[in-house]
Amino acid sequence: MAAGTQWPAPISPLHANAPVHAYYADHFVLPLPSGHRFPMAKYARLRERLAAELPGLCMGEALPASNGELALAHTPAYIEAVASGSLSAAAQREIGFPWSPAMAERARRSVGATLLACRAAMGGAGLAANLAGGTHHAYADKGSGFCVFNDFAVASRLMQTEHARTQRARGPLRVAIVDLDVHQGNGTARIFAHDDSVFTLSLHGAKNFPFRKEPSDLDVELPDGCDDAAYLEALERALEELDRRFEPGLVLYLAGADPHEGDRLGRLKLSFDGLEARDRRVMDWAWRKRIPLAFAMGGGYGHDMEATVQVQVNTYRTALQYHQRWRAVTPAPATGATPTRWHNAAA
Ligand SMILES: [Zn+2]
Repeated sequence: MAAGTQWPAPISPLHANAPVHAYYADHFVLPLPSGHRFPMAKYARLRERLAAELPGLCMGEALPASNGELALAHTPAYIEAVASGSLSAAAQREIGFPWSPAMAERARRSVGATLLACRAAMGGAGLAANLAGGTHHAYADKGSGFCVFNDFAVASRLMQTEHARTQRARGPLRVAIVDLDVHQGNGTARIFAHDDSVFTLSLHGAKNFPFRKEPSDLDVELPDGCDDAAYLEALERALEELDRRFEPGLVLYLAGADPHEGDRLGRLKLSFDGLEARDRRVMDWAWRKRIPLAFAMGGGYGHDMEATVQVQVNTYRTALQYHQRWRAVTPAPATGATPTRWHNAAA
């Protein structure tokens, strides 16, 4: 992008009273064989706990992403194969889910939730979330590792398109993807490999899935057993490098719960406090620049599902604290203007 860009734009004070919005699709349950290791129940449990413990959070049902939206990051042939159920047995195995109409619908809704979160964040809320999503192993033409479509890839391209329509004078929107799931964001890295308007950062376990990693703009590989202090130090260095190399107008944060020490697949040793410090650091980094941030939950495969959900509830608690801080220093709108750009069916 040309030098002299005006991004990052300040968050508009117009919608300073907007609540934090979060979008869910957990009622679209995909049928899995018994004993399947994907923790489907986690999503409904997260929504249940957020509703009970964080009343400041405004939750709405996700709309499905359209074919046109998906095609911003996926090939028409792959979108059609998912829609029609013509995925090969090998393609379904690589995704890790058997195809069903519910699987296809859930995949669209999961992307749709991230799209709505991005619109809310960009539309004045500053911060918004998807209760699922973070499907970073999906490539343009195939799914992988429990990921059908790549929500951050579709969202980056859609926000750039919508931004270009309304903010031509500001130049193209630049998106930073901060992927802190314990697994590398291989699909995302590949999709944006030749796109310098999107910066892909991935901090992940060196010895973890995917075993063939794709080069991100910045990859940080962590050893097995990495603890809070080493992780936070690595994150600090990574954000400093991102700052040196890129100036985003939107941050997409993949707040994976799987670096937690209680995770079955993670191989790292982060505590609840360490993960909360991680979330705080990323949100603080975006907050200081006044860059809108949308986040998604990514992986979490705790021996105890409640521990995974606890990590994610903590992420939302931190997000609400940052949002309140922003509201406290931003004057309230004189006219009581309300945001109208996002869907909020079940708020
Ligand atoms: Zn993961």
